[in-house]
Amino acid sequence: MRIKRHRLYLNDDTPCEYQKSPCRGGRMTPRLLVIHYTAGASARSSINWFMNPDARASAHLVIGRDGAITQLVPFNTVAWHAGASQWNDLSGLNRHSIGIELDNAGRLQRHGNGWRSWFGRDYSADEVLEARHRHETEVSAWHLFTAEQIETTVEVATVLFGHYGLEDVVGHDDISPGRKADPGPAFPLAALRSRLLGRREDQLPRMVTTTSLNIRSGPGVEHATLNGGPLPTDTPVEIMAEDGVWRRVTALSPVNGIADLEGWVHGRYLKAPIG
Ligand SMILES: [Zn+2]
Repeated sequence: MRIKRHRLYLNDDTPCEYQKSPCRGGRMTPRLLVIHYTAGASARSSINWFMNPDARASAHLVIGRDGAITQLVPFNTVAWHAGASQWNDLSGLNRHSIGIELDNAGRLQRHGNGWRSWFGRDYSADEVLEARHRHETEVSAWHLFTAEQIETTVEVATVLFGHYGLEDVVGHDDISPGRKADPGPAFPLAALRSRLLGRREDQLPRMVTTTSLNIRSGPGVEHATLNGGPLPTDTPVEIMAEDGVWRRVTALSPVNGIADLEGWVHGRYLKAPIG
């Protein structure tokens, strides 16, 4: 794959399928990659929605369950995928990010012995992950992504990072916590991030909390505390990013039953682990 004039070209050097969404803004220089799920019935239904001017929603790419890619907006043009959102010093992430939507039914509800989507389709146990979202306290059922979707997403993300020098890959739930849950626990975001940023887990600095510590959606006390927090004293964490005295951390042990709780804490209340 490669990028030419802000359009994606596939491995045989043919342009990826392009449908021009009217839901778009002006020019931008992307700094971030944002991963979403569509919560839709099919890639086609989601593309049709993004082609509708009344939707006032779009993404740069939609990736179907078979791994097929459709581009709707050039990568140097604002797509309307993020809504109200914040990441470090940036807000309104549509102006700073490339958005990829993965065809997926999203959060499912228990129905008899299986699960059902909001649009009425039934799913069996082998299509579903039961897990707690890291910003939530209850277990939910999540439609699994396909191996083809994940592989295609890794490949596209690698090309986008190389071409645009992107700084990070995040979930919609990272930049709009509380408001959005996609792509949720079924998407291997931490693995994708380590791969793109060249980090191995054992290379990230580790620390422990010295007190019961609030964990927030952004680097400052003006940001909301996350539902799963506070982190108990002596919680081991990995340092993902720094902003002044604030540290973006991932808890290495479950916090109130939530695995991989990630957010911002004040760095004064962290110390190097013993041993
Ligand atoms: Zn989203």
